[in-house]
Amino acid sequence: MKAAVLTAPGTLELKEVPTPEPDADSALMRVRACAVCGSDVRIARHGNPRVTPPQILGHEAAGEVVAVGRNVSKIKVGDKISLGADIPCGNCSFCEDGMANNCQINYAMGYQFAGSFAQYVLLNRLMVDYGPIHAIPPGVTFEEAALAEPLACVLNALERTPVQFRDDVVVIGAGPIGCMIIPVAKAHGARRVIVIQRSPARAEMARRFGADVVITTGGADPVGAVLDLTDGLGAHLVITANPSPSTHADAIAMARNRGRVNLFGGLPANSRIELDTNLIHYKELTVSGAHGSLPPHHRRALEMIASGLVRVGDLITHRFSLDQTPEAFAAAQNRAGGRVVVEPWGRTDA
Ligand SMILES: [Zn+2]
Ligand SMILES: [Zn+2]
Repeated sequence: MKAAVLTAPGTLELKEVPTPEPDADSALMRVRACAVCGSDVRIARHGNPRVTPPQILGHEAAGEVVAVGRNVSKIKVGDKISLGADIPCGNCSFCEDGMANNCQINYAMGYQFAGSFAQYVLLNRLMVDYGPIHAIPPGVTFEEAALAEPLACVLNALERTPVQFRDDVVVIGAGPIGCMIIPVAKAHGARRVIVIQRSPARAEMARRFGADVVITTGGADPVGAVLDLTDGLGAHLVITANPSPSTHADAIAMARNRGRVNLFGGLPANSRIELDTNLIHYKELTVSGAHGSLPPHHRRALEMIASGLVRVGDLITHRFSLDQTPEAFAAAQNRAGGRVVVEPWGRTDA
């Protein structure tokens, strides 16, 4: 089969590789859509401790089952399925406690296991038994189903720092993740969702996803702008959805007393910021991070997409063939766009 293989950090090569053959406990999926995540771009450029080249990246995927081992009963040939990324090891205290995204092994598709920038992807025994594999609901396309993975991460983040009824919620960064947060926060009862985003294209996208206020002067004084909108008190919940370290300090500065802050956006490795922790102390803030998701988040994400609550299809701005995977990565790196999807078998709908 054809696959885009990361042969070394910085080198993504299109190669002919053996098509995986499922054993009795595993299955094979024909990949119809795989979206390029910001983390894929970072791994392709700088590598990752959980990825040993040569490896096929890609963890936001959907397709159809083309072969199953004789012990597999969860899925069958012909099923149209969406895949999440994080796979519980099923065997540690975190996995036992239902927080497998904190599993210390942290198995994931496109990391330790070959991912979906390929014509086919192997669903191994762990993925089949414990992993996020869910049927694509009627009316949802393959490319929309692929975006259930990042939406699942949003649902995990909003569990860590819930939206409460009539909250003012600030989202810093209106990339695909930031845009997904907006309708979910509103559905959870937010009074206003205020988005901070300088790029005009992304500000427009945030408006289309239901942002009540878009602050486009973010570089100047985002904290002052949020305080102005909130009678000088700040927002109940602030979520970062961008890779800029300074926004972590901004988020803490613009949260109101007893507010919640979610440092959701990962930063480049070894980022350090200066922080006045007295702000957390005096304002009695709850500060959390969020990373990855659990299989139930993935299932609920698909339900949200099917219901029309989160119109993930509107986030897709570029589509590429498998041969063009390097171009797809370049497009994803250009932050002006939305989600970039690779379609290994061309344009097909579920
Ligand atoms: Zn992702
Ligand atoms: Zn585990």
